[in-house]
Amino acid sequence: MASRGGPSLTGTVLAREVLSPHLVRLVVGGLDAFESTGVPDEWVPLTVPGQFQTRYYTVRSWSRGELVLDVVVHDHGLVTEWAQTECVGDPVGIGTPKGSYDEPQGARWVVLVGDLTALPAIARIAETTTLPVTAHVETLDGPLPDYLDAGAATVTWLEPPADGSALADVVRGLSWPEGPGYFWMAGESAQMRDIRKHLRRDLGWGPRTHDVMGYWSGARGRVLWSSS
Ligand SMILES: Cc1cc2nc3c(=O)[nH]c(=O)nc-3n(C[C@H](O)[C@H](O)[C@H](O)COP(=O)(O)OP(=O)(O)OC[C@H]3O[C@@H](n4cnc5c(N)ncnc54)[C@H](O)[C@@H]3O)c2cc1C
Repeated sequence: MASRGGPSLTGTVLAREVLSPHLVRLVVGGLDAFESTGVPDEWVPLTVPGQFQTRYYTVRSWSRGELVLDVVVHDHGLVTEWAQTECVGDPVGIGTPKGSYDEPQGARWVVLVGDLTALPAIARIAETTTLPVTAHVETLDGPLPDYLDAGAATVTWLEPPADGSALADVVRGLSWPEGPGYFWMAGESAQMRDIRKHLRRDLGWGPRTHDVMGYWSGARGRVLWSSS
């Protein structure tokens, strides 16, 4: 998903760390004016040097004017290619944050599903909510238990099939906890469309019970992954 909205703040990349073969952590500083929404899946539009288009990234955490963004390394794209360079010291644009996660009153459980692009939000939601969390994360990098606080969630780490993502099948096969709860999911758009239909048509769920977001579209090009 891309946006042409202009950045409202300019920050500087203070640090770059490879967390796993397909995940690079960037710390962006100089953002004293950043005001978090407090919504745990909050994202910002990011503009990298030499570009005018933005791409959305989840705020994994923020503190004293510094934002932590975790960027998935894939084959080609404005941000992914830039994030694989020595980008420390580069200026970046950070737009207005937004969030979508909205636990309904009375929910007794949370189920989270996503690919590596969703992991920052999954971790932040799991670390924030007071409800018991079960998560299913599809990643080419194997289990990444240190990525989120110990005990924040019961996580199942899934290997994706060679030709993309199987998250829609994963959700169709889930046994849902008893009673009212909240389901949040993000990843490749076609998988998300499939699951929205399943929840509404097959399970008869109303809109307040779930939030399913397409984070990127495989249809815009071949989805190829590369190691850094
Ligand atoms: C609300 C929201 C929050 C998000 N949070 C994060 C986050 O925290 N971390 C993160 O890494 N991403 C996140 N994303 C996804 C990210 O915005 C997209 O993956 C984006 O397209 C990456 O931009 P790019 O410039 O690297 O590639 P683009 O120039 O947008 O795309 C180039 C090509 O790469 C393909 N592509 C794009 N993303 C992927 C991918 N992940 N895997 C394989 N192929 C891909 C496209 O189909 C296209 O063909 C989020 C998206 C949304 C909507």
